[in-house]
Amino acid sequence: MSKILVTGACGYIGSHTLVDLIENNFEVISLDDNSRSSDNVLDAVKDITGVNVKNYQINLCDFEKTKSVFDENPDISGIIHFAAFKTVPESVEKPLLYYRNNLNSLINLLELVQEFDVPNFIFSSSCSVYGDVKDLPVTEKTRLVRTASPYGNTKKVGEEILEDFAKISNGKIIALRYFNPIGAHPSGLIGESPFSTPQNLMPIITETAIGKRSKMMVFGDDYPTRDGSCIRDYIHVSDIAHAHTLAFKYLEENKKAENYDVLNIGSGNGSTVFELINAFENATGQKLNYEVADRRPGDTIAIYANNDKLKSKLGWTPKYSLDDMMKTAWNWEKSQL
Ligand code: UDP
Repeated sequence: MSKILVTGACGYIGSHTLVDLIENNFEVISLDDNSRSSDNVLDAVKDITGVNVKNYQINLCDFEKTKSVFDENPDISGIIHFAAFKTVPESVEKPLLYYRNNLNSLINLLELVQEFDVPNFIFSSSCSVYGDVKDLPVTEKTRLVRTASPYGNTKKVGEEILEDFAKISNGKIIALRYFNPIGAHPSGLIGESPFSTPQNLMPIITETAIGKRSKMMVFGDDYPTRDGSCIRDYIHVSDIAHAHTLAFKYLEENKKAENYDVLNIGSGNGSTVFELINAFENATGQKLNYEVADRRPGDTIAIYANNDKLKSKLGWTPKYSLDDMMKTAWNWEKSQL
């Protein structure tokens, strides 16, 4: 049984990935400083899987403490690195906080990958590395232009660091570029718990439906899209989680895998904001109180993934429909009352 160190395992995608890895017979340990999450989520992971996951409550920017995890677990066969700050508007206000946190933590971890000869490494990247693209859907070969936010740039620079590191390392690295994760585990026991007021569309929809907000805004209906609102590629968080398990198996089973590779993790479908609102109303029977507001500064007009590489290389297929995404997100919101 391979032992995987999951950083940021108490977060949204991290916790769903723990479940998927455990269900696929991996041994997991968690490293999460819980500055923006709670280790209570590990109780829910135990309820779902029956497995008690140990968390090291350590900040990755603290090299010596992080090293102690490797001293204690010299048999780590791979790392899935989720831990990072991810709030786009906050990164615009505090760029140095984002560069310091997201890049120092990555560099520390790679120093330890080298020192302890860890063979496999999976990095949480983001479709925000593509910036404002013109040609859709985006493939992994789409030329990267300037990212819209410091957050996106920490992911882009992170990928560059990994690509350079892979040239001198014995290990294998895959960067996964996530599109827009939504939904929650079908058990209703884990989901997205924003550490501050949510800025993303899905939790804003469910908070509006449950009455935590009196109304929500659609940011712009005058974009050059089919209904004037922005297009994104929404994908169920458990489908993203499973892509990590498959990527890890791929690295373990393919000794001839490239040292460094990049994969889009998206559904391949673009939905507008109005389409998402309709999908939610249809799936749940809840009516949403919304108004059209001005465009939100920094928003990309439209982006969605070409996921051919993910499907052909890892054999990934999505399990959850847009309807499932809405229903599971709504169940999760209701369970938080
Ligand atoms: N959006 C919106 N109202 C909100 C929050 C988001 O209309 O209250 C829109 C936003 O302008 C974008 C889409 O929903 O077009 C997805 O936004 P989100 O922040 O979830 O993802 P990102 O823009 O980072 O891909």
